Amino acid sequence: MIYTHISARIPGPEHHFLINPYGMFFEEITASSLVKIDLEGNILHETPYFINPAGFTIHSAVHSAREDAQYVMHLHSDQGVAVSAQKDGLLPLSQHALIVLPRLAYHDYEGIALNLDERERLVADLGEKSTLMLLRNHGTLSVGKTAADCWTGMFYLERACKQQVMALSVGRDNVLIAPQQAQDEVRSQVSRGIGGGLAWPGALRRLDRETRATTPELGAAPATARSPRFPPVRETDGAPGQSCYLNRIHIVAALNFAVMLLSLDAAIAARHSVDQRGAAARLFKSGWSGF
Ligand SMILES: [Zn+2]
Repeated sequence: MIYTHISARIPGPEHHFLINPYGMFFEEITASSLVKIDLEGNILHETPYFINPAGFTIHSAVHSAREDAQYVMHLHSDQGVAVSAQKDGLLPLSQHALIVLPRLAYHDYEGIALNLDERERLVADLGEKSTLMLLRNHGTLSVGKTAADCWTGMFYLERACKQQVMALSVGRDNVLIAPQQAQDEVRSQVSRGIGGGLAWPGALRRLDRETRATTPELGAAPATARSPRFPPVRETDGAPGQSCYLNRIHIVAALNFAVMLLSLDAAIAARHSVDQRGAAARLFKSGWSGF
């Protein structure tokens, strides 16, 4: 519901970051409702919103420790929690899992993440290279240099967990583990990246199609929509009382995350180049031409 988090670091040495406001569902969040905070949890601008303390603990730890942690996402999906609670963790039994495993770390459960000293242990467990994590008895975590990598990594991890839960329905002894040679082969094949640059634009195009299908007043996609890089998103935020594009979107869960990250990207640009509320909406309306 409202207890998972997503964040994006704002460029600069201060490690300030944007995080979702506490109490909103993902599909309700807009660029302007994101909360800008520092590594001590101080809110850095006027906003009627506040933040989830547990979200601050987890995300501030990752943003402060890793220069490549531009985007961080944490979820409590059923399949992610289920696999996080399995003793063997993620098993090498699907291609998705083999892609995930070389970049996967684990962190033991310590209770709801309200103790700030847990940050040190979380960062130590994540290490310098891992970009995905199973938080034991708790959920999943993804870290990315880009929104695309963060989202794509989480997509693979979530799918791998779901596939494992389904495969284990026949019992652990009846599951076929991928041969070690194949595991090694995939490890070398995916060493350069997780392919977010390819999957992300496609996910956004699908989001746009599905949104237009359920929101006729948006009309057909403009010609710029066919750009492989940036599909059209006409509005993310609105004045009070005005209908809000994102609030009316009904999409599958995975694409909810895409919307969130899209909003974060826009918010970062808006807060740095045009520091006023609603700028993100105009940025979206412009079709990302200046992005
Ligand atoms: Zn959590």
